[in-house]
Amino acid sequence: MGEHWEKYDNWDAAENAWDQRAHRLQKTQPIKQLVSIPELPAIRPKTKKNLRWKALNYLAKYDEEKFFIRYFFSNPLKHGYNLLRSYLTPLPFKRDKDFFFYGLKDEDEFKTILAKPDSLLIIGFSYCHKPFECPSKRFTQDCIHDLNNPVCGQCFIGKCVHSLPAKRVLPVFITTVHQIGEVIVRQVQKYPKLEVTFLITACEMTLQMFGDWGNMMRVRGVGIRLGGQICNTMKAFVASEHGVKPGMAVVLDETKKRVLDLIRFRREQ
Ligand code: SF4
Repeated sequence: MGEHWEKYDNWDAAENAWDQRAHRLQKTQPIKQLVSIPELPAIRPKTKKNLRWKALNYLAKYDEEKFFIRYFFSNPLKHGYNLLRSYLTPLPFKRDKDFFFYGLKDEDEFKTILAKPDSLLIIGFSYCHKPFECPSKRFTQDCIHDLNNPVCGQCFIGKCVHSLPAKRVLPVFITTVHQIGEVIVRQVQKYPKLEVTFLITACEMTLQMFGDWGNMMRVRGVGIRLGGQICNTMKAFVASEHGVKPGMAVVLDETKKRVLDLIRFRREQ
């Protein structure tokens, strides 16, 4: 983590060197990219119906080790109250373009958490935007982010991981909502003195479906909306949660810049 950035005195020099290498690799060993970004509806109209109920049902159905049910009943009054409060809002987040804020007003408020010495940032990357040629494979919780690998050198996830500061940041490579939910719960339980926050990439449908559960935990953070070949039906979502994701989702260029600006902000604290 941070290996590439550590070689340089400052952010700009590290980023320039990364981008120049990525540019060279795109010419000599290009990876598959979307030729154009399709404009798909974020959630199909039929899928939108009773989406919160579908999310609850999905979470319970695939909660194989009863992790979430046990977590809910560890404090049913508090969790029930928080969940109900979230359900009473039209949407579980506030949105600014591709950034979805949970328990936060805006990016400035998120930065106040990032600036705290007693905060822990969980930064999660959905496998749906790993390159097809990823040496760690797509549907896995791994990422070798190898500096000598030409695929990693062109990968946005690789760039983010190499720019992360060493301390109080936990990168997670997400395969399922249960996995990332469990990681967040466990970090909150492990570090009761730290404010756990998150920055997580996902399709808009996922950000909408599971935001209530983040609000139930009262963990504040940001969801980053993916574009490209996203999941916008329950069928596609369930298939992707089981590793069937033939399409490629992407973080859009303007959003990439916002994500990197936040990592830089955290790094320079
Ligand atoms: S940086 Fe990670 S996600 Fe990207 S190609 Fe390399 S191993 Fe895969």
